Parts: sequence; structure tokens; C-alpha cells
Amino acid sequence: MPNAADHRSVPHPSLKRDAALPLQNERAEKQTVAWPQHVTELHVHLGGSVPLYRLWEIAIERGIRGVSAGYQDFVNLLEVSGKGRIDLDSYLEVYEKVELIQSGPASVRESVITAVHRAHRTGGMVRIDPTAKSLSHECLFDVSRLELRWNPLKRTGAPFLKGSHAGLYDLDRVIKSAIDAVEDVEIGFRGAISVGHIFCFGRDLTFEANLALARKTRLWREKSRTIIGIDLAGPESLNPLSDPRKLQEMKIAFDEAGPGLGRTVHVGETEHVDLETFIRTVETLNPARVGHPIAALRAFWDRRDDRGLKLLQERNIVCELCVKSNLLTGAVRNLEEYGRLIQTLDQHEVQYTFSSDAPALQGSSLAQELLLLLEASAATPEQLLRALAVAEHASFLQPPTQHRNKPSAERA
Ligand SMILES: [Zn+2]
Repeated sequence: MPNAADHRSVPHPSLKRDAALPLQNERAEKQTVAWPQHVTELHVHLGGSVPLYRLWEIAIERGIRGVSAGYQDFVNLLEVSGKGRIDLDSYLEVYEKVELIQSGPASVRESVITAVHRAHRTGGMVRIDPTAKSLSHECLFDVSRLELRWNPLKRTGAPFLKGSHAGLYDLDRVIKSAIDAVEDVEIGFRGAISVGHIFCFGRDLTFEANLALARKTRLWREKSRTIIGIDLAGPESLNPLSDPRKLQEMKIAFDEAGPGLGRTVHVGETEHVDLETFIRTVETLNPARVGHPIAALRAFWDRRDDRGLKLLQERNIVCELCVKSNLLTGAVRNLEEYGRLIQTLDQHEVQYTFSSDAPALQGSSLAQELLLLLEASAATPEQLLRALAVAEHASFLQPPTQHRNKPSAERA
């Protein structure tokens, strides 16, 4: 069970909010930003959304073997923000441990409830500590719509599904548990947050495993509105989809999941995906959004090859950017380069949003990610507000009610 004492001292974000909060550093002090009261966060992984102390408690509760030699060891193992720069593959290895702890209907349920609560309580916070307990009650906005992405197959307890599709836990029960958790937590919040599941296919899974997940996605999608989309995630180094046969197999899995689902794809985050593969992947899987499409930007910067950016612009594809995550994995080298990235997307009229990717593992919040860009002059207030507005209409969730959509200046 969640540790109530850890939550008691944290007031609900709505108890303290300034419509236009002055920023703290010297340059930004003169600026005020009319943050919207409610925002949508659309790129957050379940595996990166449960605070470490909660994962530790779940691991102890479930008797998970070999997670670590003690709590500090556990934190050292999983806290990516303390590791400096790590490559994407090492970053994903952390996820594998988390996925094992989150396996089974009961752990999935706890994880979903904790993840939603974390997003709503801390998503707008200016300062939080690594366990996501508030140090400050300053809140820029509420996260009122959350898209939570994860791979149900990787919550069946099969150790990372290497060579086997059959886990300890029943896949249907895992999915049903997650659906029930969302319905229950929405009732608990009395409509203050709406949540949808995005199921991630795995670059590291076999075709048969992805196909099995697709069929379950179709089945449960017909039963529940809470399943809103599909994604492709996992190590690009292992399966960049440069092999046309593997790309075709992924298309079959995507199509098998059925119509009416939003499509997003992690593609081009690392150099393992070249521009040709990036373009073919987007053309074949036909996503409405892409995660971290850095390959399209590097091709333009390095060779003035703008085909990737043009493709994104022509298809009106929205780029999902995650600042801290991109810096941690080295996908983007520094904040200066991030500023260049945002500028390049604007010049090519490509839409983008900002999300926190793995806020609990990175000890961050969406508000912090935005302020990071602002305080480094990597983005202007206008660019950040536009990105938040793009997230509203690019979400796979139902549109929010009218009063939620208005910026704070308009509400006054
Ligand atoms: Zn991601």
C-alpha cells in the first residue's frame, strides 16, 4: 500500500497556483508566462512513472528476487538522473528491472494508480525531490490529461521475454487490471484527470510476440475506451527496422491492433536509425506522432538533407520531445543544441510537444522540463505555450471540456 505519511504533507496542486508565476533566475525574473491551468502530457512511460521508494515497496511486497542488496543499492541501480549521461540501451536496461517489479495484475494496478497520482500531484511542480515528494508547492499548472504508455507483455513476468512469450501472469488479467485501475482512479479524482493507455510494441520482441500483443490490444480496445493508442519502443540498436521484412512485420502488428487507435512511434532517437530508415518507418507505420525524431534533424544539420523534416511537415506529424531524457541519453548534446532543434522545427513548420518521459526515474516534472528550456534561453515562452497547445489537440484522449482549454489570462 502507498505510504500515506509521504503524501500527507503535500497539498493538492490546485491549492496553490499563480496565474502568471514570475520565474526565479535573474534573466527570467522579468518574464511572466501565462501558463494554462490544465495541460496534457502525452509521452510518459509507466516504467518511469512510479517513484523509486514505491517500486522498492512493491518489490519487497511481492518477494521479487535479486532486485538489489538494499534500498540505497536499489536507488543507485535505478535512478537514471544520478548516472550522468547513459546510452539508450543502458537506459532501457533500467526499464527492464522496473518492468519485472511491475509484473502481474496487482503490481500493474498499483503502478497505474501511483503513476496517475504522481502526474497530477507533481507534474506542474517547479521543484521536487527524486522520490517525487514535494519540496515546494509552487505549481505552474495541473496535468489533467495523461497518456500512459507501456508494454503489457513485459508485465507478465517473463524475464524480458528473451526467447519466450509465456510469462508467469496472464496477459488478459494484466490488461484488465490496468483498465480497471484507470477507471477507478478517474472516479477517485472526480474527473480532475483523464487517462488513457498506449500499448508499446517492442523492437526487442519477436514478430509473434508483437502480434500476440496486437490481438489482445484489439480485443480489449473493443471493451474499454481507456486504450487509446499504440507505440513502438525498445532498443533501436537491436532492431532499427532497416530490414524491410522486419519493418513489414511491424506494420502487420500495427494493423492487427485494429482501426481507431492513435499511432505514435519512437524513431530516430539514436544513430542506429539513419534517415532512409526513419523515412521508411514513418511511411510504413503511418503515425500521427513520433517520439524523439532526432535523425531527421541531424540529417538536416549535417548534410542539409531536409527530407525527414519535410515528411513530418507534410503529414502534419507531431514530434514528442522529452528534454531531460534526450540530454541523459545524449540524443541531444546540450541545451544549446536543444534550442537549435526547436528553432529548426519551427523553421520547417513541424509541430512539437514536450513531455517528461520517465519523470520518477529522472526525478523531474513537466514544469521543470519547460523551465529548463526557458532559463537556458533554449525556448521562448511563446514556443512553450504553443507546444502545450499542440499537446491538447494532438492527444489521443477525448478533447477536454471547454473551461479547461482556456489559458489563465482568458479565464481572468
Ligand atoms: Zn519514450
